[in-house]
Amino acid sequence: MEKNINSIVKDTLINLKKKGIDATPNEYHKEFCKVSKTYNLSVAECEQFKELISKLSKNEQIEIEAKGIQTFEDMIPILLNRVSKDNVNTLAKLFQEAVTPSISIDVDENLKNFSIKIGNSPALLFEEDIQKEMQKFITKRFEADKKVVKQKTSDIAKLLTLMGQYFNDAIHSSGKGSQEVSNIKTQIESIDMQKSTGFEELSELQTKLIDAALTIESEMSNVGEKLSSGKSEVESLEQKVKKLEEELNKTREQSAKDHLTGVLTRGAYEEAIKKIESEFDRNNTQYAIIFFDLDHFKKINDTYGHQAGDIILSTFAKVLNKNTREFDIVGRYGGEEFVAIVHFNLKRELLKYLKRIKTIINDNDFIYKKDKIHVTFSAGVAIRNNHSSYENAIQKADMLLYEAKESGRNKIIIEDGTVI
Ligand code: GH3
Ligand code: MG
Ligand code: MG
Repeated sequence: MEKNINSIVKDTLINLKKKGIDATPNEYHKEFCKVSKTYNLSVAECEQFKELISKLSKNEQIEIEAKGIQTFEDMIPILLNRVSKDNVNTLAKLFQEAVTPSISIDVDENLKNFSIKIGNSPALLFEEDIQKEMQKFITKRFEADKKVVKQKTSDIAKLLTLMGQYFNDAIHSSGKGSQEVSNIKTQIESIDMQKSTGFEELSELQTKLIDAALTIESEMSNVGEKLSSGKSEVESLEQKVKKLEEELNKTREQSAKDHLTGVLTRGAYEEAIKKIESEFDRNNTQYAIIFFDLDHFKKINDTYGHQAGDIILSTFAKVLNKNTREFDIVGRYGGEEFVAIVHFNLKRELLKYLKRIKTIINDNDFIYKKDKIHVTFSAGVAIRNNHSSYENAIQKADMLLYEAKESGRNKIIIEDGTVI
């Protein structure tokens, strides 16, 4: 054994020299333990170091391994990093403060005792049971705070609901003031906002709401007075508006009629045809579009004068109007051209209508001053049901009128070929 130690010492010194390392106690110790391993010799001091490492914490062992620490001296800085008792003392105080509910005023008796216990022996903080207890206090603290916040939130909600009701009732009482309104104000006042400290802002809010309610109440009585005096003014204005409306309707009706002839203007006719068309789409009613045009009217104007022409135009329009039913329409399409929309079930009804007009015009003369003036007209008649659109139908009527003119005038041509 002694021989072995001597050899180890010798080899250790040789190795250090070879590596060019000074044989300080630290370096010597490291090399010595290394060499002793090669001699398969267990040296107590080397074993002691290993044993101590096994007692350290896992993290410390990892650090020692990573840094390749092999001596007690090198281990000192790592051990110095350990938490001191003094530090734990501060930690214990911090914990006590942290778990004391912040907005609930009740401090748990158990928590007080626990804090005293930890203050007396801070090392307890490292025990598992104590840590579990700490966890419980933390949970308890959160629950306590949550409860208070919940209670306060419901107080605010109550306030807001009441205020909402207050406004609503104030508005609906139309300035008369109401018992209900002041009841609500009393309810707002009765919410106990000062149950716990730290909520001064809430009771301030409550005071402001009550002030607002008072202002509204006094405003309401003012409004009430103004409303009743304004009422009669509103009533007389309403009557004026009604009168104006009636006059407007009258004017509107008049503007729909042509000044000279009293039948619908072109614009009013276009509006009326829209209604007839939508009716046609819904009920598939049957109607004819008739274009009337006075023959050689220019010549009449030239011969008898424009005024005579005017009277003839208005008389012709009267004949059309008188013989056309209420739900049919007659319009002045332009100059001396008129249009009629005539609903019918059987063709003979339509023929009867057309013949009657033609007979009246043919059998009578127009009288202007001393002149008896004979006038004829031509017409084209399209049946709406034969066409896919109103536009196509009216175009057809126009074409038939042109045909009547071309083939000698004083005739009515219907699109089925009938000529009257
Ligand atoms: P046709 O048989 O081909 O219809 O011949 P026409 O002379 O009637 O047709 P034209 O279109 O050539 O002339 C229409 C005339 O109608 C010309 C215009 O002076 C006259 N006229 C249009 N509006 C009025 C009106 O409000 N009053 C009068 N007096 N004449 C009008
Ligand atoms: Mg003409
Ligand atoms: Mg014409």
